[in-house]
Amino acid sequence: MALVVSKFGGTSMGDAHCMLRSADVSLQRNSNIVVVSATSGTTNDLIKLGEMAEKGHLSEVEALIVKIKNKHQVIAKDLKSDTQSLQDLSILLSEMDSIARGIYLLRDCSLKAKDVLMSLGERMSSVLFTVAMRNVYAQQKQKREVKLLDVRTVLKTDDQFGKAKPLTEAIIKLCRENLKDCISGQTTYVTQGFIGQTLAGATTTLGRGGSDYSAAILAEGIGSDTLEIWTDVAGVATTDPRICPDAVVIDEISFKEMSELATFGAKVLHPATLLPAIRSHIPVLVASSFEPEKPGTWVKKEVGASPLIRAMALRRKQTLLTVSTPEMLQTHGFLYKIFKIFNDYKISIDAITTSEISVAVTLDNIDTINPALLEDLSKVAEVNVEKDLCLVSLIGNNINHTPGLAKKIFENISDINVRMICYGASKHNFCFLTQEDKGQETIQRLHKQFIR
Ligand code: ASP
Ligand code: MG
Repeated sequence: MALVVSKFGGTSMGDAHCMLRSADVSLQRNSNIVVVSATSGTTNDLIKLGEMAEKGHLSEVEALIVKIKNKHQVIAKDLKSDTQSLQDLSILLSEMDSIARGIYLLRDCSLKAKDVLMSLGERMSSVLFTVAMRNVYAQQKQKREVKLLDVRTVLKTDDQFGKAKPLTEAIIKLCRENLKDCISGQTTYVTQGFIGQTLAGATTTLGRGGSDYSAAILAEGIGSDTLEIWTDVAGVATTDPRICPDAVVIDEISFKEMSELATFGAKVLHPATLLPAIRSHIPVLVASSFEPEKPGTWVKKEVGASPLIRAMALRRKQTLLTVSTPEMLQTHGFLYKIFKIFNDYKISIDAITTSEISVAVTLDNIDTINPALLEDLSKVAEVNVEKDLCLVSLIGNNINHTPGLAKKIFENISDINVRMICYGASKHNFCFLTQEDKGQETIQRLHKQFIR
């Protein structure tokens, strides 16, 4: 039987009702491993708890502890949890209490302590989800046993607390050795996303939103046939439906296209997190646990159809920085000097164009540019800053080898001022910069022309 790893995000774990619906989905899908996020909002609350404790704000600390406790206890009660699970939950709740008090007394919330504190979100939600799964499995007379797995026994990482890197080889080895009963289909494991453990036994986290990544790592670990990411939207859309009500869910998209789409605006999932699955040729389904009957979107290395334009994205709040100097004429090393400065300030650049004597780059979401950066740049060249721009990207295939595409695009928006065009570097992306207040209309027109 095909192996399946299913991941449920925070909103799919929102309350007992959501959990039971998600458990039902995992049953329908025959999941071998179910990876869960913390219940929605809990990771944020735990981070706040650490901050308040470190600052010594005792009443806020107490209020947060009560809030988190209540939320989980209500779910436990609604699920009619068994005594053992209630006890497991209460051990985790008192761990939270002790850690918060420790941080409060020391007035110190190190990254290491913060990781343990954050890990409680997934550790608690997985206890509750195990109950939900057992209820649903018993109701449907499923033979498979549901077990709770402490993911830290297999998901080993380095010790960069807060953003730990998984130790792939060790993980694969441990998964193949320790999870045989799930690989054989005897058992379904419920386990935590987002968290891991160093070889020395310290708890780590993989970075915010890390549960997708955990699921991809475990899918690679057991050699799964598919990975499913269950969220609260019915897949990846051709564009943001708030901009174009006509947008439709894409049935299949290649990993390369998905990477461009996510980088240039789509928020559903970050493809970097799918990397372990993609490199192991495991197709990934993105679908909604709220509407599981909808087909969702498959992200794969190879896909059936490769349309010229598959999707579009709008990235708002762009700044264009133009750096020019006549000294660049007929010399070398100018680009090096400029990019070295960006590197010194750890600034990531998205789109770039150059002419003989100038370079224009876009910067994302920067309210104020560091004056020191501008000063350093102006030592080598003249600098000009333009704000209130947005980046429109068209994502598809063979874009840079299709005659007439640019003409079609720009004819359609001939009354809209285009500030910069990036075309040629990628087969999968055509993007240009326009004024912030024209972005929406640009997408609407192009979506109508190229998609529907
Ligand atoms: N609970 C973690 C977070 O909110 C991880 C996740 O949900 O993916 O960042
Ligand atoms: Mg999440």
